[in-house]
Amino acid sequence: MLLRRFEKQLDVDMEKSASDSGFLKFTGYDIVFQEVPGEVSLALNLSRCPFRCPACHSPYLRENVGEVLDEKSLSALLEKYGRTVTCVCFMGGDAEPEAVARLAAFVHRDYPGLKTAWYSGRESFPRDFRKEDFDYVKIGPYREALGGLRSPATNQRFYKMEEGRMEDITSVFWKKPFEDF
Ligand code: SF4
Repeated sequence: MLLRRFEKQLDVDMEKSASDSGFLKFTGYDIVFQEVPGEVSLALNLSRCPFRCPACHSPYLRENVGEVLDEKSLSALLEKYGRTVTCVCFMGGDAEPEAVARLAAFVHRDYPGLKTAWYSGRESFPRDFRKEDFDYVKIGPYREALGGLRSPATNQRFYKMEEGRMEDITSVFWKKPFEDF
């Protein structure tokens, strides 16, 4: 269930964009309940998706669109919503996994009350992935025949990170609602 929706579909502005390498861009953000069970999340929709899943739910996210997401722009959002949310959820960003991890570490360091989550479309964790940067990670491409996280047949996995351990809690998404998470 979406509590509040803050849509901010941003214009393509290649002139203002930073270098394509090492930067994330976001096309909008929402405050959501269900993407990370038990958390109220600021979900950031990241563009420049390098994948081409058949039946992609948001093809525009494959484009080089939106505003740069860095420590400065993320801080501006957290000044507004940091007290409303318990978690920052990076939706995508697979073209720049190091940048996602860098911002997640920044949230942990500068906003110690907030958790971090990453929704990745990768088949597996990137090289040099640091578990301690995230509290939750969803991994796996979207396969229409298998369904998303709410389908018991899904190929996608949702992990909770705790004290260096990774627990597969995907089955939480098969319950409705999440009260017993
Ligand atoms: S990872 Fe998501 S945005 Fe990227 S192609 Fe697949 S469904 Fe689309």
